[in-house]
Amino acid sequence: MSYKLFIPGPVAVSDKTYAAMTTPVVGHRSPDFVELYNAVQPGLQKLFYTKDPVYISTSSAWGVMEGALRNLCRKKVLNCMSGAFSDKWNDVSKRCAKDAGALKYDWGTPLDPEDIRKELSTGEYDVITFIHNETSTGTMNPIEEIMAVVREFPEVISVVDTVSSFSVLPIKKDELGIDVMLTGSQKALALPPGLSLISVSQRALDRAKELPDRGYYFDFHEFQKNHEKGMTPSTPVIPLINGLRSKLGDIEAEGVENRYARHHELNELVRGWVRQHGFQLLPPEEFGSRSLCCVRNDRDIDLPALNKTLKERYQCVIDGGYGKIKGQTFRISNMGDETKETISALLDQLTEILGEMGKL
Ligand SMILES: *Cc1c(COP(=O)(O)O)cnc(C)c1O
Repeated sequence: MSYKLFIPGPVAVSDKTYAAMTTPVVGHRSPDFVELYNAVQPGLQKLFYTKDPVYISTSSAWGVMEGALRNLCRKKVLNCMSGAFSDKWNDVSKRCAKDAGALKYDWGTPLDPEDIRKELSTGEYDVITFIHNETSTGTMNPIEEIMAVVREFPEVISVVDTVSSFSVLPIKKDELGIDVMLTGSQKALALPPGLSLISVSQRALDRAKELPDRGYYFDFHEFQKNHEKGMTPSTPVIPLINGLRSKLGDIEAEGVENRYARHHELNELVRGWVRQHGFQLLPPEEFGSRSLCCVRNDRDIDLPALNKTLKERYQCVIDGGYGKIKGQTFRISNMGDETKETISALLDQLTEILGEMGKL
């Protein structure tokens, strides 16, 4: 059974993207691959707002999230934690045998730059990780204010997860001084899962040189060495790179500013529905994500039942909450290729079903 995903990743993939992915595979050391690799660089650098290279990793985002720690942390990493993904990054740091500090917040609470300044002022840290858009709670952290603080500490390398905000709004890597910025394919880029993108500064490459145990698969210097030849360290998932090339073409055709405006408008549409029906976002409104809405289920809606009807009647699926707030929240994504028509239709369907369930 085929149905449409309105969960915050993976999101619906267009027929055009799927078709691009059936382009016949070429040898990954051939001139044809070099052409493909080099063709996606300018579009990626534009979306990352960077002059640094953007490496293509055949892994989901966690691969490069773990890899970044192994490349960069000699002393101690500060993991800012406020949701399922950012909490897990602290766990992953420890599993990599890194000394890992935890700056913890309640889920749905945005990071406070002042707390980060206090922590970094201890001088203990040489890496900080944070998530721009904590997908599990639909919270968008104040990245500009956070980076202004991080820039006060030249020894600290910043690693920023933009997995679910990349291409939804501008995130200016170089201007903000982000050393390592990463994203995945299956969120706002609306590609199938399996690819991650990571842009690494010279500062971060220099740091990586100091770490003898950075492994092979996610070694920044392996990426860099191959990047200079228009290649990846090992055989990449070439169909996804063809999909990416097609998607970058779509973004160029839409116009990146139009894309940002569309996501903002669709997000407002969902927020309007939330307000109209007396629901509330989990985070404070001004920190609400622009790529999804995480809504408090304070009406005891049977979310599996809601999804079952939505799926059977309209072949659509939303998310019934993630991690420890499963059931207490539901999430609606406005990432990827969604339009006013598709989002409005979904909201009408939710209104109808929730009405029948006596929850509106
Ligand atoms: C989805 C997501 C991840 C994890 O991505 P995988 O593709 O499962 O590795 C990490 N961070 C954020 C913010 C995400 O939304």
